[in-house]
Amino acid sequence: MTPKQIERVMKRYRITNGKGFRLKDHDPDDIADGLVDKKDATALLAGGVTRLAELQELLYPYASWSMLCIFQAMDAAGKDGTIKHVMSGVNPQGVVVTSFKVPGPQALAHDFLWRISLALPERGQIGIFNRSHYEEVLVVRVHKQLLRAQHLPADLDGKRIWEHRLEDIAAFERYLGRQGTIVLKFFLNISKEEQKKRFQERLDDPNKNWKFSASDIEEREYWKEYMEAYEEAIVATAAPHAPWYVVPANNKWFARLVVVEAMIEALEALKLKPMEMQAPDRIRLEEARQRLLEE
Ligand code: AMP
Ligand code: MG
Repeated sequence: MTPKQIERVMKRYRITNGKGFRLKDHDPDDIADGLVDKKDATALLAGGVTRLAELQELLYPYASWSMLCIFQAMDAAGKDGTIKHVMSGVNPQGVVVTSFKVPGPQALAHDFLWRISLALPERGQIGIFNRSHYEEVLVVRVHKQLLRAQHLPADLDGKRIWEHRLEDIAAFERYLGRQGTIVLKFFLNISKEEQKKRFQERLDDPNKNWKFSASDIEEREYWKEYMEAYEEAIVATAAPHAPWYVVPANNKWFARLVVVEAMIEALEALKLKPMEMQAPDRIRLEEARQRLLEE
């Protein structure tokens, strides 16, 4: 694929303005009109993984910019596999992966962004969120009774709570952008039929049984509600400084390519150069070299 073709394909998945966004316009089976072939995918992904690792090596020494990649999806959409493959080449010292589960008592004693803030990447680092603050406008919105555990003052959990949460998330991400954190959000978009197939595999293959939890079947019943919640979240929070990528994820190999390409593009846009020493530091290096020689 030529760089121009890649750019055009990526634009299809990148949402920087939620106005008019409709999830139904996005096909989970999309593979970029056959521009890439499954048989080329392994080599392409390996190339992307290497490039990402090189870019991360440039990001790290400056300890200035950081990147936060958020993964959201329905169960079995491939969040874990995508994270595993895409990040496989990157120096582990420069990456922090956080999986957000049902919040425990300590998190519930705080505002919903508290545990999120604690897990943000340091300057120079890449942070990966496997689920995130978006759960607060997804699972909590679909199962409103979860709000009860959050001990909100009664006046503050009215009808407009979801609108307010979405506003607060958008403001939080804008703040992060202004602090030098590149925020990328990935929605791995699978179809309900594909999820069924993957659940069946998890049940059939003893090595995959552990990935299955009984509640997964129950959540499936709320598919429509989840899709509405995702759509509203994307509409309210897509921005140039915090784009959503609606990644077609029925084909795992394709989803991984889109994710690695998005991360590469975001880091390349920083135009980072290998760090060069300034004159006073170079003099100190020269002195150190002399001392070693004289030992
Ligand atoms: P898994 O990612 O499969 O290990 O499951 C984690 C579970 O935690 C999922 O069912 C999420 O919906 C749930 N979860 C994550 N964040 C929250 C949250 N803020 N409130 C309620 N449930 C959550
Ligand atoms: Mg699960």
